[in-house]
Amino acid sequence: MDRIRYAAFVRTFFECDPKAITGIFQEFLDALRAQESLPPGNYYSQNYDTAQANPEIHVLPGNLKDARDAVFPYFWGTDGWSSPLHLENVRGPANYASLIGTMACLLKNPNLCTDSYSQRSNELEVKAVTALANLIFYHTHEPWGVFTIGGTISNLYGAKIGLEKVLPGAMQRGLQGEKIAGIVSEAGHYSNLTLAGWLGIGTQNLHSIPTDRTLAMRLDLLDAKLEELYSAGTKVLFVVATFGTTDASGIDDIAGIRKIIDDKVAKYQVTPPQLHVDAAVGWALCFLSDYDNAKNPLEFTPELLKVVERVQQQTLGIRLADSVTLDFHKMGRGHYPSSAFIMNRRADLKYLARDVADTPYFAEADSRRDPALVTLECSRPGLGPYAVMASLNGIGLTGFQMLTARSLELAHGLKQRLAKLDYCKVLNAETCGPSVVWWVLPKGRDAAAIFDKLERGELPPEERQRYFGEVKRLFGKRNYSLDPAIDARLSYTTNFGYRPHGIEIPAWKAVFFNPKTDETVLDQLVESLESL
Ligand SMILES: *Cc1c(COP(=O)(O)O)cnc(C)c1O
Repeated sequence: MDRIRYAAFVRTFFECDPKAITGIFQEFLDALRAQESLPPGNYYSQNYDTAQANPEIHVLPGNLKDARDAVFPYFWGTDGWSSPLHLENVRGPANYASLIGTMACLLKNPNLCTDSYSQRSNELEVKAVTALANLIFYHTHEPWGVFTIGGTISNLYGAKIGLEKVLPGAMQRGLQGEKIAGIVSEAGHYSNLTLAGWLGIGTQNLHSIPTDRTLAMRLDLLDAKLEELYSAGTKVLFVVATFGTTDASGIDDIAGIRKIIDDKVAKYQVTPPQLHVDAAVGWALCFLSDYDNAKNPLEFTPELLKVVERVQQQTLGIRLADSVTLDFHKMGRGHYPSSAFIMNRRADLKYLARDVADTPYFAEADSRRDPALVTLECSRPGLGPYAVMASLNGIGLTGFQMLTARSLELAHGLKQRLAKLDYCKVLNAETCGPSVVWWVLPKGRDAAAIFDKLERGELPPEERQRYFGEVKRLFGKRNYSLDPAIDARLSYTTNFGYRPHGIEIPAWKAVFFNPKTDETVLDQLVESLESL
């Protein structure tokens, strides 16, 4: 081999040249800031047509600017979601403390599979998980957890522990032809279906319990379902409670669910199912658990304080969970992927433990230090722990209280504004969270009366279809006519989670994740409805 040529390209790509790297970084930052002065949206239209036709690879080694050029159009064509007008979904701009953390991580590129491949980064994961466990469980003696690539996988861990608890040896022997079931609420996230499918449980064996109007699983129906399953000899592997449904911020009564599980388990003398809480979105409400409402140091309005009091009641329930899914890349405003799966008791690790014989790559591994002996993944990025610790200690508890409370305040503010419009109906008035779901009907309609009729089961199907069609058509009309520079971007769901009489209800949706969104955005949003 031509060693001179070899040495030259190795220098370019494997020796750190701070000037070259920061120079390119500066260019990316300049582009980012230029884009932030434009309305949100698609800055550079997509070109899927030839994405597969010309997947070219350069022939000769280039330099770091070639790397820049290879990705720049796609970077420019991607919205970083920094605009305060983005209200579509549970996605917000990542915070810059998280950027510092994740950049540091990328410079070292640790692999969290084992201690020897990640050294202090592994220690940082233990720290991050413990900090988050203390936040959500309040007092917990020996929690444990790992970062995963997303809430779906964190939920999968919860279900897997339930499977191994109730059906010991499933890891080796499979499902053994047993009659099995998992339980979730009707407003739960579709990732529960994913995990039921992928774990071999079968989506048909995932039972969903209808919710009440507050999007909380109906306890009477949970009781009846458990009764039905246990009396038929079915093994219930897990119950997933949702703390913050994705569309409407519904929160399950975790204490009530725990009590029903305990009673049934005692009655039927069976192994308790895993009580896993999917708090992918809602966990951040725990930042407010400790807020001193009497002293009110952050000067929340009386209105907001009332919301915070309700939140404080609801966060108490999480402490009864066996395990929790927490997406820091949602309300933590951290970078992807920073989802954490957290267990209340480290002892439950035994349900995931693999033999060293199963993991020959890690012959020296020690399960106290080496997550690869229990994780689904082998290689794991360190981004999550870096994003979390940099954010938590950059922004601080008080900073996160402000961020979280502000989301609640804006959601509450929009609900109040919409409540004044007869042709609108807020569908999640009784939940406290960052999202608002509502109907917009043509002016002159009494939206609340129509909803009442639907809830009572007195709305004829033809009428219902007409109203639902109107809700959708008006959404399309606003989208078509909106001014991208001032009008908030909303989304539309075909089923916000509450299904009275089994009817799926469509809704407009706004989620307040962006810290820069303010009351002028709400005013303009209402204005845009008035002029539809
Ligand atoms: C977002 C979400 C998930 C899935 O999490 P990802 O990180 O997107 O995989 C699961 N459950 C709920 C309630 C969610 O909102």
